[in-house]
Amino acid sequence: MRKKIVAGNWKMNLTLEEAITLSKELIQAEMAASPKHVQLILCPPFPFLSGVLSTIDGSKGFALGAQNCATEASGAFTGEVAAKMLKSVGASYVILGHSERRAMYHESDEVIVKKLNQVLSNGLQPIFCCGETLAERESNKHFEIIKNQLSNALFQLNQTEFEKVIIAYEPVWAIGTGVTASAAQAQEMHQFIRSVLAEKFGTAAAENCSLLYGGSCNAANAKELFSNADVDGGLIGGASLKAKDFLTIANSFS
Ligand code: PEP
Repeated sequence: MRKKIVAGNWKMNLTLEEAITLSKELIQAEMAASPKHVQLILCPPFPFLSGVLSTIDGSKGFALGAQNCATEASGAFTGEVAAKMLKSVGASYVILGHSERRAMYHESDEVIVKKLNQVLSNGLQPIFCCGETLAERESNKHFEIIKNQLSNALFQLNQTEFEKVIIAYEPVWAIGTGVTASAAQAQEMHQFIRSVLAEKFGTAAAENCSLLYGGSCNAANAKELFSNADVDGGLIGGASLKAKDFLTIANSFS
């Protein structure tokens, strides 16, 4: 059965002290009102991974994720962080294919496939992001764009590898804009994604894959978004930086 997941993408925010304070607030609040059967994933910037892990360690509901990793295993790649290193500091998940990385760092499908291979071969789980721009939606190309992003990256995996993948549908026009996809738009796309996955990997694997929604999801709209049959949780940016909001989102499943 697929997992309900709420993951916080802290992006390039906070200092170490602030990151530890936020993790402590989350732990304390979660102990008081634990979200039922929800996997919470915190994705801090690289330098804070170990510190955040020591704060959340032992708390069953929380796991650690990274926001990116290198295409290569090791070597002369100044400034890069390998999947093996992430595994060694206790990360379990890695966000890949985020639209900010696709747009600002020109990450192609080919680069994302290399990163997927690094993540999976090191026993980590990818949170694979896909999403269309506003222009693509307005020209009615959104289904085609998502299908291409899925097939160009995930269809390169074998069945066992695919079964480790979590997918986040993040319409680019909704990320950090305060504009959220409507519950109907999110459900329509998630259902489409599941049907595309079913064609390639079979109905059972598609049904078992957790599909998260991301894009200005917040404490006020999470309940409606998560009430959809094919929305299994969220990848949360801005609202994950406030403990109260993140926990409200995590408690938004009916
Ligand atoms: C994100 O960047 O993954 C995201 C969903 O951001 P926000 O929630 O701020 O739109």
